[in-house]
Amino acid sequence: MTDIGTTVLGYPRIGPDRELKRALERFWAREIDQATLLRTGRDLRERTWRTLAAAGLDSVPSNTFSHYDHVLDTADLFGALPGRFGGLPPLDAYFAAARGGQDAPALELTKWFDTNYHYLVPELGPDTTFTLAGTKPLDEYLEAKALGIETRPVLLGPVTFLLLAKSTAPGFRPLELLDTLLPRYADLLRRLREAGAGWVQLDEPAFAADRTEAELNALIRAYHWLGKETARPKLLVTGSYGHLGRALGVLARAPIEALAVDLVSDESFVDAVAAEPALRDKEVLAGVVDGRNVWRTDPNRALGRAATLLGVAKSVSVATSCSLLHVPYDVEREHGLPPRVRGWLAFARQKVDEVVLLGRALRGEDVDLSPARQAVADRAAAGVRERSEAPEETARPPYAERAAAQRAVLGLPPLPTTTIGSFPQTTDVRKARAAHKAGKLDDAAYETAMRAEVERVVRLQEDLGLDVLVHGEPERNDMVQYFAERLTGFAATGHGWVQSYGSRCVRPPILFGDVSRPAPMTVRWARYAQSLTAKPVKGMLTGPVTILAWSFVRDDRPLAETARQVALAVRDEVRDLEAAGIRIIQVDEPALRELLPLRRSGHEEYLRWAVSAFRLATSGAAAATQIHTHLCYSEFGEILPAIDALDADVTSLEAARSKMAVLTELAEFGRGIGPGVYDIHSPRVPDAAEIGTLVRTAIGAVPAGRVWVNPDCGLKTRGYREVEAALRNLIAAVREVRAELA
Ligand code: GLN
Ligand code: ZN
Repeated sequence: MTDIGTTVLGYPRIGPDRELKRALERFWAREIDQATLLRTGRDLRERTWRTLAAAGLDSVPSNTFSHYDHVLDTADLFGALPGRFGGLPPLDAYFAAARGGQDAPALELTKWFDTNYHYLVPELGPDTTFTLAGTKPLDEYLEAKALGIETRPVLLGPVTFLLLAKSTAPGFRPLELLDTLLPRYADLLRRLREAGAGWVQLDEPAFAADRTEAELNALIRAYHWLGKETARPKLLVTGSYGHLGRALGVLARAPIEALAVDLVSDESFVDAVAAEPALRDKEVLAGVVDGRNVWRTDPNRALGRAATLLGVAKSVSVATSCSLLHVPYDVEREHGLPPRVRGWLAFARQKVDEVVLLGRALRGEDVDLSPARQAVADRAAAGVRERSEAPEETARPPYAERAAAQRAVLGLPPLPTTTIGSFPQTTDVRKARAAHKAGKLDDAAYETAMRAEVERVVRLQEDLGLDVLVHGEPERNDMVQYFAERLTGFAATGHGWVQSYGSRCVRPPILFGDVSRPAPMTVRWARYAQSLTAKPVKGMLTGPVTILAWSFVRDDRPLAETARQVALAVRDEVRDLEAAGIRIIQVDEPALRELLPLRRSGHEEYLRWAVSAFRLATSGAAAATQIHTHLCYSEFGEILPAIDALDADVTSLEAARSKMAVLTELAEFGRGIGPGVYDIHSPRVPDAAEIGTLVRTAIGAVPAGRVWVNPDCGLKTRGYREVEAALRNLIAAVREVRAELA
């Protein structure tokens, strides 16, 4: 067959039972040897290839496996790991780059486009030289071939690889390395061809974001160069996570054989593809099965879109919109889901079947699409209701008025000190939670254990001398899951793990229906903590945008409407906390930045509804109730006006690592601000002098009356020893600065 035909652009790799995670963690702990780790990987690859081949895909991808991250794999493949990892055996250097080694800090970890996957950022400079240092794509191709399975090796495309890298030298752009990188890609293509590969997939997702002229020119150059090679497999280039904009025309005109387009992320992109005359001689893979959400595909819509392209391209096949890396393995394993909801879902394994079925339907074969149609119809019929008594977002009184009311009620000292919410989660706490969940610890015993922990955390904070206390969040496994378990309209999976980075996996809740809050979710804990102290206890909630960002959400309603429903539930909780005597309420939105659309043209609309959801959740609070929010990044850039528009009385954010660089952006910020003075991502304990310097920097940039002093983020991943020591230093530093101010 000369066409690719039906395929998926990638598949989960962590293992249906997180086998890779376990093997990695045991390997790092030296409990298993390297051979055992490698065998785990090989077994997982074999299972994946066999599954995909048996399902009837025309083309099976390979090299979608990774021991940690595929961007790191690419840097490693081309001999481009930074020099500080030199001198180690290859796999040790690889893991050192991923996790940090002796005196060699790890590569930076950052978000992969607008997904919840995180990749390691390659570091490239003017001195970087590329060599074809590894053989991973070739080895995996041959490994599959030895099993009798012909595959299509998947590579990160050269332009995206360079665009994802960070520069190690001022004024240098990694894209300048393109001409030295392309020959190495060509070498690799030649070797894959020699080994027998008929097709290779090159992923260029960077072109789903806005790109400059120079970057588009690099794309032109790369594919004209690689395309002209004679000894090469046929080339499939993919663009996922959004529409390709001008890159569509570039790739259509490049000497490649096939192009995969994401027809799910942007409804209108199919028209642009259909209007592209240069696709005449290409195979187009219509990405109509959503690779990053969990719903069954509507066959009518999917086939409609794919069929639009039939006359336009040389041939059209069905594919996923992106790699299936972002969804769990298999719905069949989920026995705890409500049966009706289960019928609406497709995880990776089911999506493969959808691709095969839709591919056959597109070819005009007589296939039975009625079960899929029924599932989609059933989900549509389950509908959603609007809350009829739903309040509109109301503006709170002006800040000055609120601040005066809050001052009267709270009576806080200058430079008030607080934490972001969670305290260290001890083994005892985790054990108690797990035992309760498993039914081995009854409600009363669990309650007693958690209350004891809350009391201990409150006592500790009083002893330390913090001004605004928290209950410590011992009852929360995860800041989104905890709320999802208490809201209607969410379902939790048993095995729905998705790789976040390396060995870290998350199990996002599924938002399937009407969201409402049948009963208070956090009030009991906040009230108990407040009963133990005269100091104000801050109630802790997760905001609507973050709840959406870390869940699988409905794709049949606008996100803005779903956000509104979640906001109304949070609003109910705010009201109940207030009624229970809680005077400060923090609504965390660490993911506000995460959901920002890849293209600038989508920013305004997103920020409008995101801000409005936060305000809907919080604007019912009385003037005297102090609303806090917390964000987890230090570069505001263009979202600063949106953060301002949240209208929170106090905003805390990560700042310690950047040495408060964020403050220059915040000079204009009109309300309370708590730039983190203690980097909780590291076990290091900053001393009082260091913290004092940061606090002084803060009050140098922002009027002292608006500055709060707090760590960068929650403390749950740290141990008590470091946390106690760091908070003691924080308090000591603040006392010193207060004395200077007085
Ligand atoms: N309140 C949460 C905590 O302290 C906030 C976590 C976060 O910002 N990611 O754990
Ligand atoms: Zn945070």
